[in-house]
Amino acid sequence: MNASELRKLFPILDQEVNGHPLVYLDSAATSQKPIPVLEALKAYYEHDNANVHRGVHTLGSRATDAYEGAREKVAAFLNARYTEEIIFTRGTTTAINLVAASYARSVCREGDEIVLTPIEHHSNLIPWQQAAKATGATLKYIPVQPDGSLLLEDVEATITPNTKMVALTYVSNVMGTVNPVKQIAAIAHKHGAKILVDGAQSTPHMKVDVRDLDCDFYAFSGHKMCAPTGIGCLYGKKELLEKMEPVEFGGEMIDHVDLYESTWKELPWRFEGGTPIIAGAVGLGAAIDFLQEIGLDEIERHEHELAAYAYERLSEIDGLAIYGPSKNRSGLVTFNLGEVHPHDVATVLDSEGVAVRAGHHCCQPLMRWLAVTATARASFYLYNTHEDVDRLAAALVKTKEYFGHGIG
Ligand code: PLP
Repeated sequence: MNASELRKLFPILDQEVNGHPLVYLDSAATSQKPIPVLEALKAYYEHDNANVHRGVHTLGSRATDAYEGAREKVAAFLNARYTEEIIFTRGTTTAINLVAASYARSVCREGDEIVLTPIEHHSNLIPWQQAAKATGATLKYIPVQPDGSLLLEDVEATITPNTKMVALTYVSNVMGTVNPVKQIAAIAHKHGAKILVDGAQSTPHMKVDVRDLDCDFYAFSGHKMCAPTGIGCLYGKKELLEKMEPVEFGGEMIDHVDLYESTWKELPWRFEGGTPIIAGAVGLGAAIDFLQEIGLDEIERHEHELAAYAYERLSEIDGLAIYGPSKNRSGLVTFNLGEVHPHDVATVLDSEGVAVRAGHHCCQPLMRWLAVTATARASFYLYNTHEDVDRLAAALVKTKEYFGHGIG
């Protein structure tokens, strides 16, 4: 894989920011979009745009084919057994909310447990808090190691026969840890619990096989994997989705409507009320083609190498604290520079043309566990190069000089 060549397919990266060539290191928040995805969106709107599942006219059936074709691509991409196991959503957040509001609320009772980890993104935390409040279930947390990793013995000790649901992230958006979700799924199933995997930070960066993982639900967002914003997916095992009630009602999801009663369509449409995100799905299909052509294994290898290089370069900076494991980290590095607020660090980096994220990264409990209010984070994707890491390191040295005393 040649990242410098691939980068040319991302027009947005070819610009100067504050007088410097842009180095975009915020792909964990959202990725940039390559020409094939931009062209697929343009072609859809220029030739095929119509509403789906309704019109008998030619554009209507072309739009329906494009939308349902994208669903087939997602199913193959995740290795789902059935295409109807793929529900289009707005993103990871909406997908998790659907499971928490529908599945969890129908199976959980007082005395039941929902098991999470303290490093979850708010999107995989608050929906479960709400489900616990609504059902009387208890939230339990698997303890984490100082580097953010999980020990299987702690997982074993936390999940019990009372556990109905386990929900955790595959890859942490702050620590960069990769959780052993396949083993955790086996432990959950041993106790009769179901498992939801938050795939927001894994799906864009590594090969995912939901059948091999044997997860019951899997959620991800298109915008972090070269697709447009506003499209994502929930994968769910067919036998579970079939038992779930919709949480959004209206057009598109109905079978028969009477004045006092209505019935729903079959899977997957019963969970897709209203006009769906048709162009978004087309863009997601194009993004999947693009990523598969490069190869998810290649992308993962490239990012792990960049993250290791970044860890090495940033470790040379005196006074810079790096969070997460020193080895086997996914493609991101989270850090703090002495006592300087990460917003100030990110502002100085931006003045050097280097875009990083600063804040709590939607992980406030994790920030408290790390005993910080916020951190800065550089995250990599297929278009980042070793030169980008060098630019980050050089800009951090400048930042350190700028803030002077008290660092290192
Ligand atoms: N889960 C994780 C681990 C994330 O990193 C994110 C986004 O940053 C989300 C969930 C939420 O994704 P979205 O805002 O696309 O719904």
